[in-house]
Amino acid sequence: MSQESKKSMAKEGLTFAEVFPILFRFSALKGSRAVVQPVVSNHRTQPRIGETMSKSKKYVYLFAGGAADGNAKMKNLLGGKGANLAEMCLLKLPVPAGFTVTTECCTDFFANRSKLPAVLDAQVRAAVLKMEKAMGAKFGDPSNPLLVSCRSGARKSMPGMMETVLNVGLSSKTIPGLIRKTGNERFVYDAYRRLIMMYADVVMEKAEGLEPAEGQGIRKQLDGMLGTVKKSKGYKSDTDLTAEDLKALVVAFKQRVKDALGKEFPDDPWKQLWGGVSAVFKSWNGKRAVSYRRIEGIPDEWGTAVNVQAMVFGNMGENSATGVAFSRNPATGENKFYGEWLVDAQGEDVVAGIRTPSPLNKATKNEQNKHLMSLEEVKPKLYKQLYDIRTRLEKHYKDMQDIEFTIQEGVLYMLQCRSGKRTGTAALNMAMDMLKEKLIDAKTLVMRVEPTHLDQLLHPFVDPAAEKVAILIGKGLPAGPGGATGQAVFTAEDAVAWVANGKKVILVREETNPEDIEGMRVAQGILTARGGMTSHAALVARGWGKCCIVGAGEIHVDVHGKKMSAGGKTYAEGTWITLNGTKGIVYEGELAMVDATENPQFKAFMKIVDTFRTLGVRTNADTPEDAKIALAYGAEGIGLFRTEHMFYGAGTDEPLFLLRKMILSSTPAERKQALDELFPFVKRDIKATLEAMKGLPVTVRLLDPPLHEFVPQSVEKQAELAKALGITLEQVKTRGDALHENNPMMGHRGVRLGVTYPEVTEMQVRAILEAAAELNKAKKASKPEIMIPVTCDVNELKHQKVLIAKVKAEVCKKMNVRDIPLLVGTMIEIPRAALLADRMATESDFFSFGTNDLTQMGFGFSRDDIGGFLGHYVGQKILAADPFQTIDQDGIGQLIQMSVQKGRKVRKGLKVGICGEQGGDPASVEFCFKSGLNYVSCSPFRVPIARLAAAQAAIKAKKV
Ligand code: PEP
Ligand code: MG
Repeated sequence: MSQESKKSMAKEGLTFAEVFPILFRFSALKGSRAVVQPVVSNHRTQPRIGETMSKSKKYVYLFAGGAADGNAKMKNLLGGKGANLAEMCLLKLPVPAGFTVTTECCTDFFANRSKLPAVLDAQVRAAVLKMEKAMGAKFGDPSNPLLVSCRSGARKSMPGMMETVLNVGLSSKTIPGLIRKTGNERFVYDAYRRLIMMYADVVMEKAEGLEPAEGQGIRKQLDGMLGTVKKSKGYKSDTDLTAEDLKALVVAFKQRVKDALGKEFPDDPWKQLWGGVSAVFKSWNGKRAVSYRRIEGIPDEWGTAVNVQAMVFGNMGENSATGVAFSRNPATGENKFYGEWLVDAQGEDVVAGIRTPSPLNKATKNEQNKHLMSLEEVKPKLYKQLYDIRTRLEKHYKDMQDIEFTIQEGVLYMLQCRSGKRTGTAALNMAMDMLKEKLIDAKTLVMRVEPTHLDQLLHPFVDPAAEKVAILIGKGLPAGPGGATGQAVFTAEDAVAWVANGKKVILVREETNPEDIEGMRVAQGILTARGGMTSHAALVARGWGKCCIVGAGEIHVDVHGKKMSAGGKTYAEGTWITLNGTKGIVYEGELAMVDATENPQFKAFMKIVDTFRTLGVRTNADTPEDAKIALAYGAEGIGLFRTEHMFYGAGTDEPLFLLRKMILSSTPAERKQALDELFPFVKRDIKATLEAMKGLPVTVRLLDPPLHEFVPQSVEKQAELAKALGITLEQVKTRGDALHENNPMMGHRGVRLGVTYPEVTEMQVRAILEAAAELNKAKKASKPEIMIPVTCDVNELKHQKVLIAKVKAEVCKKMNVRDIPLLVGTMIEIPRAALLADRMATESDFFSFGTNDLTQMGFGFSRDDIGGFLGHYVGQKILAADPFQTIDQDGIGQLIQMSVQKGRKVRKGLKVGICGEQGGDPASVEFCFKSGLNYVSCSPFRVPIARLAAAQAAIKAKKV
């Protein structure tokens, strides 16, 4: 396996199939908290939550009438939604009364084999009483009934990944009372049919672990029945259904629920409430929530809170509505209130993509919705009230807020606010704007943009030249910017399967659906025919910075036929299509992509970032082209120039031929001849990169190639070599076979090559020094550093340094210069070198941690073969993460820290860096900062990410 594939292997992530499914098992109790244990089969020795531990616990936090038990700081316990509901209540915003059942209750619930703690009953009943008082209605009361919602809410928002049940409390006893109270029979039966649909799906089917085949779940069945009624009556919209229709429908619904699930739909409000609470807890372990947690790195042990809140209704007629808004544009960051709303609709209608939502205001109008009336136009007073709340919330939270609201018969209610998910571009733009607006300071600015946001920002977009001549398929809403091209697939499962086979896909779906999470993740881009900008899938895609177009109405998706059609044309599965997610345009074919251009906001941001950064950031680059990219991204030097990379890729035929000649030489004379011929190529390439780096340090690593990889395999190449060496083809084969190693990773590589063939080291040192001297003579600064790889003993360094000193003297003489400034250091990539770092430091000007090999040898995991088992290790939580992507701080981290301490004890001010793949991983960068490294080195495109991560680490450590 090549060095290239070593690199890419180390970068490789897990597929969903590998990490899924994950078993979530709580067991032992530590202190007062449940903790996750891998596997436990016997619970008998543990205290029963309901009986002992939970007696003293407060599980229920009330928010009602301008007062609240919690606040925004209590996200860990109350979840994001619960904490912010409490905060909005404290801000005296119009929030319907309610209470939050804590995340701790969720973890206790799982620890107690999915039973709610016994004390919860009393706490909930007490809270319901207070809620009733605040709302002037009673839960389960036949004449003046209060209805509630049960919604999930984890510490970190997981949009659409868990469950919600609305209209809890409707029963044969409360329905007549609510009809009398509202005077609106249609509304009440509409609310009831929604309760049945949601409850049957969430509580009676999903929470019970029933898994019907796609399209046959109870929800789909009930949807189908609703559709049939609409069709038979010639209705276009759900709102056309009359009270009589709905009355008949709920009877049929209940019968179907009984037939399909074998249980009566519960008619007792309290039974419904407890069912709802348990089901929301259970949805924490639902398939898509678990998948989402894996992707986002959210720990299983956090659990979700449940928010039980008095219902307000957006579906009470023309004077009622529901909506979702962002205080600024979440796709671009523009400082404009942005959102969607639907008249006479409830809860999830906006996000579920069932009806095309109307724009909130002028700023939200686009091609797809410009014919619809905005809230600003229809209800200017309410819009103004909402706008004022938006302004207050932004000032209070000092961040972009994602808001949910309902208008019930002309009265505005706030149902949620949270920091909104945003694209990388939006994150950067809004943070820079907020700095200018003096809403946030520079430190907050730097902390506000996540390293992954920068990653998205540097993503490619569709080449405008290619776009000009491309054939249009359709247009939709630009939900996630950038460009993406791939082969169309129509189900999430197909997306996962195709990607596993090495294909690039665009996931095309009829509507946005959080069930598609795994397919969405692996796809290059996402396209849906229905849904709005605030639909769940759009939110999720945007959070990932994934190119996404939703609501492309002209496109008709035929999931079963695995095809789509638009403009009279049909596109089968596997057809190449391209998305311009910034404009919302879908094209035929595989269009070219270009990299993100110069972005002045980005540059200004990075300038501020660097004012906080103390850790250096270098790059791993082996060509002048890469060096230039890295410089443009702010690299402060090259931390790893892999010399052997000059033998890969285009234009390397000649040096590769000479290298092969050198490898297959059998006498020192032959080898010397080959090295002499190779020398000018090595010097040329090193010189070009030294020059490109304009006097910044360049760490050139001496050759570290697995030799057998360079043995020619084709007969043609072998014959060419045989001719050049004046030997037979057979002899070439025999010499090649002699280089075979059983374990090349631990074989004749790195410094070992320089020990057995000193002339190889000498040639390289001569090339480096002559290149530097020539540049210096031409008044072009250069700063070479020589790095000796794969060392395990100080004597190896001594051996090589003798050669280096000898060559240096020769070059100085030849070039007629007194000195050529040069540092000589070593990689620390073998555990023995780390253990003996004090000795290694006596002969090293610097250390650079080769954490690819250090991880390989520290774990005993072959970096070439880890793909076969790593998925299981991470999936089963044997390891928290892939140690080739992020430094294993517990184990390998100790080797690093020990080396730094030991090395600096012997050589004060020893320069220390890292050049393994982990050098561009934000968590590893933070670890390197904490461990006192001088710099990290990573691939050119990760340089800005490392710079930001380094600045954030300094801010977190309060050192700046
Ligand atoms: C390393 O081992 O971390 C390293 C940078 O060297 P390579 O990947 O080339 O073995
Ligand atoms: Mg290495």
